[in-house]
Amino acid sequence: MIFDHILIRFGEISTKGRNRIKFVEQLRRNIQNVLTDHEGLKYEVTRDRLYIHLNGQKHEDIAEKLKPVFGIQSFSLALKCESDVEQMKQASLEAIRNLYKKNDSFKVSTRRADKQFPLDTNELNYEIGRHILINTEDLTVDVHNPVINLRVEVRKEATYITCFDYKGAGGLPVGASGKAMLLLSGGIDSPVAGFLTLKRGVAIEMIHFFSPPYTSERAKQKVLDLTKELTAYCGEIKVHIVPFTAIQEKIRAQVPENYSMTSTRRMMLKIADVIREKQKALALITGESLGQVASQTLESMVAINDVTSTPVLRPLITMDKLEIIKIAEQIGTHSISIRPYEDCCTIFTPASPKTKPKLEKVSRFESFVDFDEMIEAAVENTETVIIKMEEKSNDFESLF
Ligand code: ATP
Ligand code: MG
Repeated sequence: MIFDHILIRFGEISTKGRNRIKFVEQLRRNIQNVLTDHEGLKYEVTRDRLYIHLNGQKHEDIAEKLKPVFGIQSFSLALKCESDVEQMKQASLEAIRNLYKKNDSFKVSTRRADKQFPLDTNELNYEIGRHILINTEDLTVDVHNPVINLRVEVRKEATYITCFDYKGAGGLPVGASGKAMLLLSGGIDSPVAGFLTLKRGVAIEMIHFFSPPYTSERAKQKVLDLTKELTAYCGEIKVHIVPFTAIQEKIRAQVPENYSMTSTRRMMLKIADVIREKQKALALITGESLGQVASQTLESMVAINDVTSTPVLRPLITMDKLEIIKIAEQIGTHSISIRPYEDCCTIFTPASPKTKPKLEKVSRFESFVDFDEMIEAAVENTETVIIKMEEKSNDFESLF
């Protein structure tokens, strides 16, 4: 293989002003993390590009691993040469010789980051194109719709010749926008909410409420498996498993049935907020979608959200179920979410939960119980596991 580099374009990051350096550093770390198995790669960062020197390694595996990395707009295989016209001509010829098939058309598109370069882009396109035509057979020029678009990026330090762009995952590098805690059930919605938040550069940790013996080990395993799917986008994820049985039983015994769902959600949010603070995260995330179920009306949100002033991110709030399912299928979580094991809410779901609960009422019902002590115990007994990234065979192409 003649290409010795991968050239990575940042897209959205380039526009982020003073934060840019931080963003690019985070992206470089994230890329290095997914490529730890590939020894000998060299990384170089410039203002608006990141280069990976392949050092003789095959590009295919590396390209696959770059596809789910958020913050990459696109990337290309590249051949590096000195910023000297003769060298550019020679390298472009070598690159195209490796690529073309009989009767292919091509064009040369030069871009000068170095505006001081003596030849302008038209002159360079002409010089390089002519050199290719003279030294090859069965190639024609087509400036409108070429089979091969050979791009020549001229920079002060070096010139990179590229073709074949891969689409990147877009978004922002995970970790560049801080950290938040995702309330992860075993359902379809919350993993999708996690994926969308990761895409905006937010690192996540999971919080799962677990109610044995009402919910089984297999329900817990489902949550760990869902987490594993999401590690493809961020390396590793911490999962906090909170024992929730005592609180759910207490709610069932003390709070009127039609308010039990509201109360359950309030307790979840309170506990999640304590764990969030301990883990130094800035926000909570849920998979709620407006009007989907009784606990997801605006009135319910008023009554539930009252327990904390921490921002609660709800990436799915305006999405239809079908739109959510489509993403779940693409990111590989749907088939896990539809496994039949019950989660703690399904088991305790009242027959007719209030769709318009009143904050004063739920607060009064809860005031007869010392929930604070129970919340403290639940946090104390929370089990934390770390899920590491696994090789995946997702069809990232169709996703982005
Ligand atoms: P999901 O598909 O994510 O379960 P849902 O449409 O079933 O969502 P609910 O069951 O009402 O909706 O849950 C709303 C949100 O509350 C979930 O998206 C999730 O963020 C959180 N949640 C519900 N149950 C749990 C749980 N056992 N552990 C952690 N979070 C939960
Ligand atoms: Mg659910």
